[in-house]
Amino acid sequence: MKNNIITRFAPSPTGYLHIGNIRIALYSWLYAKKNNGKFILRIEDTNLNKFNKKYSDYILYVLEWLGLYWDDEIYYQSDRIDIYKDIINYMLFNNLAYKCFCSINRLNKIRKICIKKGIKPKYDNFCRDKNLNYNNIPYVVRFKNSLYGNIVFKDIIFNKIIFNNYELDDFIIQRSNGIPTYNFCVVVDDNYMSITHVIRGEDHINNTPKQINIFKSLNYKIPKYIHLPIILDLNKKKISKKNFLFNIKKYINEGYLPISILNYLLFLGRLNINYKFNNINEMKYIFNLFKLKKSSCILNMKKILFLNKYYLSNVSYNYLKLYFKYYIINNNIILDYLNNLDEIISFILPRSYLIKDIVNFCLIFNKYIYFDSLLIIKYKNNYSYLILLYLYNKIKNLFFWDIKYIDFYIKKLLKKFNYLKIKYIYKILHFFITGKEITPNINKIILLLKKKKFLFRIKYCIKKYLFNFIK
Ligand code: GLU
Repeated sequence: MKNNIITRFAPSPTGYLHIGNIRIALYSWLYAKKNNGKFILRIEDTNLNKFNKKYSDYILYVLEWLGLYWDDEIYYQSDRIDIYKDIINYMLFNNLAYKCFCSINRLNKIRKICIKKGIKPKYDNFCRDKNLNYNNIPYVVRFKNSLYGNIVFKDIIFNKIIFNNYELDDFIIQRSNGIPTYNFCVVVDDNYMSITHVIRGEDHINNTPKQINIFKSLNYKIPKYIHLPIILDLNKKKISKKNFLFNIKKYINEGYLPISILNYLLFLGRLNINYKFNNINEMKYIFNLFKLKKSSCILNMKKILFLNKYYLSNVSYNYLKLYFKYYIINNNIILDYLNNLDEIISFILPRSYLIKDIVNFCLIFNKYIYFDSLLIIKYKNNYSYLILLYLYNKIKNLFFWDIKYIDFYIKKLLKKFNYLKIKYIYKILHFFITGKEITPNINKIILLLKKKKFLFRIKYCIKKYLFNFIK
């Protein structure tokens, strides 16, 4: 049987998407795909802004990164202005809308009067029913909203919602610059794209009655509405695009895996599923729009981090490598060609929370590594020279590259320099071999570096930083 469920994700490219936007995209995708329906991507870019292109391109990148592929072409509202204008003309002709020539001054006065009276500011319908038409005077187009009665709709999460028409005024559907407004374009597009289920944030609940009224006036079929409860930060503040902490760009840059983010967002729906999904297709079978909870959710960044730690070790190696590569390219990181990269990754994986941790570890195996100049000062001394020289001479003659021989020489080294604290000797080794004061098991790192690179590094450090001590 043909199923016609069509959902959409309709972001405005006014900034980088935040985690709440991604939840909307995910739930819309899951609901459509669960029902063999379509998931449409519509970029709501009528508010012409010079950053539109940058942000909308990033939206596409993010959806691809997450694996939330869309069906059909991408719709850009900025390409559809003529379509909206035709419908506005139709509405003007059919008395469903009217031109309003009220000046800003007049509107401000009405506003002030309302505020003084303690009532919600709204337009006083001065131009309604006057059929005004002047040339060369700027105007807006207003929707002729019903003056009486209620708008009642059933939200799948919030249940029955009632608004009184009296509360809504004749809102603007076309600005004086000729550009149609959000509430109008959404209706035209949701109808044109045959959207059956509108899934969006709770912050849009107030727009829904306006949109329903336009749907009715144009005799369009009204979709079903699902408003997702708002997401709060730990201080119970609404998250926004302006806060970089919740920005998807931050998660991508730091090396989260999409699967961790998607699992966390599914968990936020509180569907009572205690299961970690390995891919988005598995999620769609259990996703149930009708069981989502209504109360707001609190974002717990630590939980995402722990999920990421879990997934780093539990996704397929191919998946991990794919996002490892994404990370390297995104951050312009250059890793030397390593023929034991897999071995290095599998060593560091259980200790990593983010791809960033894995990559930072891999950087130790580049031919040239970074040494902090302040730490150089700290470790530039005769002990360092003697320790490095000793180890160099021992390892140089090592024939079998095996951890037990490396362990053996490190033990010998500790004995030889037993007038120094073991901890200090280790710090010297960690620093000159890896550029960092603390790293996991240095013996294992030496093994992974392999003999040639290990000897090269020691020689390099002695020549560059410890040459004053050469006798
Ligand atoms: N463009 C709106 C936004 O980014 C969404 C509109 C909608 O889903 O109806 O919040």
